[in-house]
Amino acid sequence: MLSALVESSLNLVFPPTCLGCGDRIHSPDNRLFLCGPCETKIDRIGGAICQRCGAPTESAQVQKCKRCPTFESFYMASRSATVYSTPIRELIHEFKFKGSRRVRPLLCDLFVRGANRHLESKDFDLIVPVPLHWWRQFRREFNQAEILGESLSESWGIPLVLNSVRRVRMTPPQSGLSGRWRERNIQGAFQPGARGLAGARVLLVDDVMTTGRTLAACSSALLKAGATSVVGYTLSRRL
Ligand SMILES: [Zn+2]
Ligand SMILES: [Zn+2]
Repeated sequence: MLSALVESSLNLVFPPTCLGCGDRIHSPDNRLFLCGPCETKIDRIGGAICQRCGAPTESAQVQKCKRCPTFESFYMASRSATVYSTPIRELIHEFKFKGSRRVRPLLCDLFVRGANRHLESKDFDLIVPVPLHWWRQFRREFNQAEILGESLSESWGIPLVLNSVRRVRMTPPQSGLSGRWRERNIQGAFQPGARGLAGARVLLVDDVMTTGRTLAACSSALLKAGATSVVGYTLSRRL
């Protein structure tokens, strides 16, 4: 209540600016963080996609595309809600590194809607978020994949399981590394956790997919933990 009051008076003095273009947002709704034009620029993936990696394709559905992983992926297929471009890139950055709470509802909404476009809840028994290393989670105080997974778990009525896989090595962000280093970086970074997954069909969720190597390494640990199948799903993906 108090924070809402403080927030609304701050909005009077400092009108909110759009996270996409930096323009002031003229709206009585102080929860807005994108202007109208930037909101429409969010590149939602729909229509024709690659059946394996979920990348948008020119026209028809394809079974495999040039963006598909060339390494052993361990997951059956992957899907993503959006293409990683402005303004979704800025929103995710705000969410992940600045801990911004105000962008969470929009990102969770995009995440759930994307899942409803590309996946069916009946195909999964459990949702597992890609874990952070405990030290990184301690520093950041939350795991963005877990927050997204929670929103989908609530919407679909499927349990979110947190202790079936552990991140045993702290790895630099995949985005800053070249292909070969990415592979070395992520190999062996995950191990099965305390909870077994006997026979479960798992939906593995994360915020951003770069090459799919993180999903692959995590999927391998989930299969070792007893999962029968893993499908990856992310809020956004780099093309
Ligand atoms: Zn804008
Ligand atoms: Zn593909």
